Amino acid sequence: MHHGIKKLLLLGAGHAHVHVLASLARHRPADLDVTVLCPYDHHTCSGMTPGFVAGHYTAEESRIALAPLIKAAGARWIQGRCVGLDAEHRTVSVAGAGIDTPPLLSYDLLSINTGAAIDRARLEAEMPGASTHSLNVRPIEGFVHLWPQVMELARDRAVSLAMIGAGVAGIELLFAAEQSIREQGRPGARFTLITGGPEVADGHPEGVRRRVLRQLKRRGITVLREACTGFDEGKVHLANGASLACDVPILATGAHAPLWLQESGLALADQGQVLVNPFQQSTSHPEVFAAGDVAMRSDAPRPGNGVYTARVASALADNLLAAHEGQPLKPHPAPAHTLNLLACGTRHAIVSYGPWHLEGGWAWHWKDRVDRDFIKRYALPA
Ligand SMILES: Cc1cc2nc3c(=O)[nH]c(=O)nc-3n(C[C@H](O)[C@H](O)[C@H](O)COP(=O)(O)OP(=O)(O)OC[C@H]3O[C@@H](n4cnc5c(N)ncnc54)[C@H](O)[C@@H]3O)c2cc1C
Repeated sequence: MHHGIKKLLLLGAGHAHVHVLASLARHRPADLDVTVLCPYDHHTCSGMTPGFVAGHYTAEESRIALAPLIKAAGARWIQGRCVGLDAEHRTVSVAGAGIDTPPLLSYDLLSINTGAAIDRARLEAEMPGASTHSLNVRPIEGFVHLWPQVMELARDRAVSLAMIGAGVAGIELLFAAEQSIREQGRPGARFTLITGGPEVADGHPEGVRRRVLRQLKRRGITVLREACTGFDEGKVHLANGASLACDVPILATGAHAPLWLQESGLALADQGQVLVNPFQQSTSHPEVFAAGDVAMRSDAPRPGNGVYTARVASALADNLLAAHEGQPLKPHPAPAHTLNLLACGTRHAIVSYGPWHLEGGWAWHWKDRVDRDFIKRYALPA
């Protein structure tokens, strides 16, 4: 490395880093060496995954190819995943990369956008059989890859599908699955939503929850306010002692912060995410930035969301360059509310913003537009 050249390492290629790459493609200082570490050659837009399941988009239409973006940014791609971070020595440990990749990468400036992770050991402890008998929504790339097999099964026989987890991701995917199986699968399929105990769409405004329940009822989807306690071949066990016969159990019980952050030395939020200030900068290590589900703002703690992450991205891109150049950073004001668009499968969506909520076909077209525009903004010819 030449004297004066600084190393920027981007972990993950989530909603924020696709924007950082596009902005580096427009302007990258000559003394900044950029490396991207991520396991896949595309960014899957999870907001469009329900639309993929519903049959509105192909897998290709709901993702962004990374190679052209990385090339345009003048960056280097290391295909692999981060499994450890030592913030004191400024190194990242890598797994799954080729033999020519050093197992430790060093950085001067680090940006983390690896999204939410699942803790398989914890899931297996809470729900024995989860890893062998259920399909997890995360990592989203794996779910998208396996979904066609579910459709194959559903064309073959009348399936029983259960969604475990009644947050917006689980609800959207269940509506989508119900629609495509009703249209293309064997008649007589059954659909169940297992909430784990709380209400459907817990934490969302009362009006939104009422709308969701009405749509679930309209589609004949059974709601069980029970916790899932484990799985066997063809069976989901419930806390009340009953078990549900089920061919396709899908887990959407929410994700965790990655375990490799725990020993990193970075200041972490209660749930284990990187604690960041209004500059999206680590509150403990000024050379570390983070955005998306892996980060938590110390001034405005709230759960992650793809639309918000995409918005924070331009502040992140500016601040990474400012940090490199020793310029003052710019705060990103946390919005009081974010726009939530919940697709209900059949080209129908519920839109909410703070206490305000409405639904209709127009809301679905709105969501479709927002998602397609996001993809289009970053799609470069291969
Ligand atoms: C089914 C579903 C539907 C959703 N719908 C919506 C919606 O309509 N609107 C909305 O706002 N939000 C939605 N969400 C939530 C939204 O998807 C997340 O909040 C959003 O994806 C977070 O973006 P991110 O940039 O943090 O991470 P992601 O978009 O998940 O990107 C993470 C990136 O990091 C990579 N990566 C992961 N682990 C590692 C590692 N160890 N090392 C290196 N790279 C790694 C991944 O491959 C990926 O490139 C939905 C979520 C799901 C599951």
